[in-house]
Amino acid sequence: MVMTQEMKERLEKSLSPKRFSHSQGVASAARELATRYGVDVEAAETAGWLHDCAKQVPLTDMQAYVRQAGYTVDRAVWNSPALLHGPAGAALAASEYGVRNHHVLRAIFYHTVGRKMMSPLEKIVFLADYIEPGRDFPGVERIRAAAKVSLNAGVLAGIEATLHHLLETGSTIYIGTVETRNWILESEENID
Ligand code: GDP
Ligand code: FE
Ligand code: FE
Repeated sequence: MVMTQEMKERLEKSLSPKRFSHSQGVASAARELATRYGVDVEAAETAGWLHDCAKQVPLTDMQAYVRQAGYTVDRAVWNSPALLHGPAGAALAASEYGVRNHHVLRAIFYHTVGRKMMSPLEKIVFLADYIEPGRDFPGVERIRAAAKVSLNAGVLAGIEATLHHLLETGSTIYIGTVETRNWILESEENID
């Protein structure tokens, strides 16, 4: 599963320069994490490139992609562009970019909130989204350090940064984000 030049060109046309450069950063961070943690490097890189491919379309378009793909999502996800761009991105990656690898599609689908039982590839894309070289927010260094300890430590640090941010801004917290955090905390692999 490689990201071809044609796919990159298509992606560049549908994103702002800033968002395209973020995607390139996530691809490179995902590649590095996959190498470190023994996960399919090309799958991680491709999912990193495409994770935000639906980020800049209107909510109604996101909903159309998700419906066409036959995906079901919670009401809270359906009504929020911040949450729906993951599922919509998976739908678009399959229909427009020809991605057939379901592990890659799931990593795109769940990259914003994660899920219980998320795979190492899903964790890598979730985490790479926080620590790619272009990211510069308060606390990013803490997540980068946690990413070197273990995938679970990195994912947990990322979720907790998001939760702090959501609390500070008075935002609603999606229940799935909390479920992901609890699953990581309760996970046996966490003891390493
Ligand atoms: P990006 O697409 O690279 O900007 O990053 P993400 O896909 O991780 O996040 C997209 C947006 O979703 C960010 O603004 C997050 O703060 C927001 N987000 C993540 N989790 C939640 C949640 O549980 N609830 C809400 N309301 N927003 C969330
Ligand atoms: Fe995203
Ligand atoms: Fe992103």
